[in-house]
Amino acid sequence: MENREIFAGVNSIKFNQRFKTDEDCYSYIAAIKWEQGYECKKCGNTKFIPGKKLFSQRCSKCKYDESPTAGTVFDKIKFPILIAFHIAFKISTKKKGMSSLELSHEFELRQKTCWEFKWKIQQAMQSSLNYPLEGEIHVDELWIGGPEEMKRGRSKGSKKLVVLALEKIPEGVGRAYAQVIESASAKEFRVFFSKHISTHAKIITDEWKGYGPLKKEYPGLEQRKSNDGNAFIDLHVHIMNLKGWLRGIHHHCSKDRLQGYLNEYHFRYNRRNNMNTIFDLLLKRMVLNKPIRLNMGISKGYLSAYT
Ligand SMILES: [Zn+2]
Repeated sequence: MENREIFAGVNSIKFNQRFKTDEDCYSYIAAIKWEQGYECKKCGNTKFIPGKKLFSQRCSKCKYDESPTAGTVFDKIKFPILIAFHIAFKISTKKKGMSSLELSHEFELRQKTCWEFKWKIQQAMQSSLNYPLEGEIHVDELWIGGPEEMKRGRSKGSKKLVVLALEKIPEGVGRAYAQVIESASAKEFRVFFSKHISTHAKIITDEWKGYGPLKKEYPGLEQRKSNDGNAFIDLHVHIMNLKGWLRGIHHHCSKDRLQGYLNEYHFRYNRRNNMNTIFDLLLKRMVLNKPIRLNMGISKGYLSAYT
């Protein structure tokens, strides 16, 4: 396939000019899907003829006809694909994204429909794990879901604990990642560290005992007095902003869904200086990532909290 024409930028006028019809969207998806060439999903043949539907490709041997959306998160959505593109554009390019309530008003869809589609987008926003944090990394935990701060090790009720790592760079702050954890233990920290932090990194935490055992695998780990957070100003500004955003959009949710919000927040945060390609990257993930089966489990009274 010829080089595809990537949509760049965050300008909604340009977006509307580029994507006017469902066909424009199918064409964009097809270009992503077969950018590396065509291979039949059923038999592996690499020759195709145009399929029956617009932009679909039909295997010249076994005749399997594959639509651009087959196997992507755009498969079998209950609303026009043009709206799906608009939602993906808004969520990736607006500084704070959009709640499912806002989406349902703007696009005249049911809130549940918006919530389910947004959940799929959040899955596409999770880290690729290909670029662990390096250099100087500050790590701390925070509680989500309650007004008052909790002490470590105490009973947590409905509150959830999150561990956060922030990269310091000469210009200020680099990337950040966050993960919901069961407890502030070395075992839980280790899972997070192995996903997001290079073993060569210089890591700074406060003096909490849960970090101590990780010094074996992370020789650059250093524990410092927190001085009520003053030793970790950037980290605490980040936590404040993250909490403010979460307060605005959700009140109480499961571990998985909170992780979805953390993924969404950091997907945008880590590309805040690189917004030109953020929509295209999200689209690529939505087309090429394996779809995740959802067990939504949303009951009526519950939904209003999930915005
Ligand atoms: Zn085939």
